[in-house]
Amino acid sequence: MVPAKLILQEAWATEANWDLPLPDELQSRFSAWYHGLSCISQLKFERRIGYGKRDSWSLHIFCDASKNAYATVIFLRSESSGQVYVKFVAAKSRISPLKKVTIPRLELLACVLGSRLAKYVVTALSLREVPTYYWTDATVALCWIQREENWGVFVNNRVKEIRSLSKKEYWRHIPGKLNPADIASRGCTLQHLSQYGWWEGPEFLKASPEAWPKSEFSPNEELIAAEMKKKIIVDLSVKIEKPEWFERFSSFSKIVRVFCWMIRFVNKLRKNFLMEKENSVHGLQVVRGDDDVLRVKTRIIERDDDLSFLYPILLPSKHYLTECLIREYHLKYCHAGVQILAAKLRLQYWIFSSKRNIRSCVSRCVVCKRFTAKALTTPPIQLPLDRVRTSSGCLTRPIQKLYPLEVSTSGDPVLTLTTENRSRYGRLFKSSKK
Ligand SMILES: [Zn+2]
Repeated sequence: MVPAKLILQEAWATEANWDLPLPDELQSRFSAWYHGLSCISQLKFERRIGYGKRDSWSLHIFCDASKNAYATVIFLRSESSGQVYVKFVAAKSRISPLKKVTIPRLELLACVLGSRLAKYVVTALSLREVPTYYWTDATVALCWIQREENWGVFVNNRVKEIRSLSKKEYWRHIPGKLNPADIASRGCTLQHLSQYGWWEGPEFLKASPEAWPKSEFSPNEELIAAEMKKKIIVDLSVKIEKPEWFERFSSFSKIVRVFCWMIRFVNKLRKNFLMEKENSVHGLQVVRGDDDVLRVKTRIIERDDDLSFLYPILLPSKHYLTECLIREYHLKYCHAGVQILAAKLRLQYWIFSSKRNIRSCVSRCVVCKRFTAKALTTPPIQLPLDRVRTSSGCLTRPIQKLYPLEVSTSGDPVLTLTTENRSRYGRLFKSSKK
């Protein structure tokens, strides 16, 4: 059936409509196959496949694949009164998928097909106690089946199925030219099969088991390894920087408290507030106090003010401690804005690029984000037709004195004649509508 299946596959591949005739080449191949079917009537199979005692029986499953198709064939070998009988039991073939599949993978698919068909035959003919031999000339597929490795998804799934249907020790290697499934996988015609005596099985089966081909082969290790499960190597060696001691605390006041405890051990006695040694940092005059804190010597030291305002503590930009301090002030002053925070911080601290740091810190505040979020706006809708239609009415006189008319205040507002000398005003419109 392989030639017919191939013709059908190729016909589909041409994407021709039902009404269009097939290409000449396909037509001639089909007619050749069709005429070849006539010899089916000449084929004769013996209904009996096993002879002698069942102890002498053995089932042989041959698998092979070619570029176009893969196939399997099963023979039953039996012995009776010194004579060996090899009988055809079943065969099955499949054509290769249109998507290109490598030959070793096709060979493995042939092995899957063989395992399934063997399972079916064993169950149908109740041959569970009969020894089973699986033969393939595919060394790569054989290694996949027999080796306990971590194969890729395609191979692993099929090997798993083969092992569930057969034992891996039952699989043997056979040279390609001795493999009867080889002819089936190549798509032979019935005449060829009859000519080769395909139904009679391979000649070596008629010999004693000692003379059968030995499973000695040297596989292509590269092809075998190509189906190993891909290992993704992830470098998990993360460079862990030792965090500063203060990064263990998120609150600025707690950091200060801990720090105070620490320096208490170092320096118990505070002497002079400032040392005379001066340095310059980014154009700022910086002095180091005897408490080892860097302070900025501002230009307003002559002013009579708090020393911490005249000599504010110098803080670096983009530092965890600075961020904590800004956050603390931001919360302390009820989510104050950049200007207020800058002014409040300046009373004690001098932060490099303070505005930018404060803005960045405020912009990350979730509460502020929620309150400053812009409301969704929608484009104005079109006015309805009644509001934009041109009316035929026109104003005749803007305002007219209506006396001596009286406006009724009870019930419907209507105008009534009155003699009282009270003025009423109204507008008169003239409409073309009757
Ligand atoms: Zn905030």
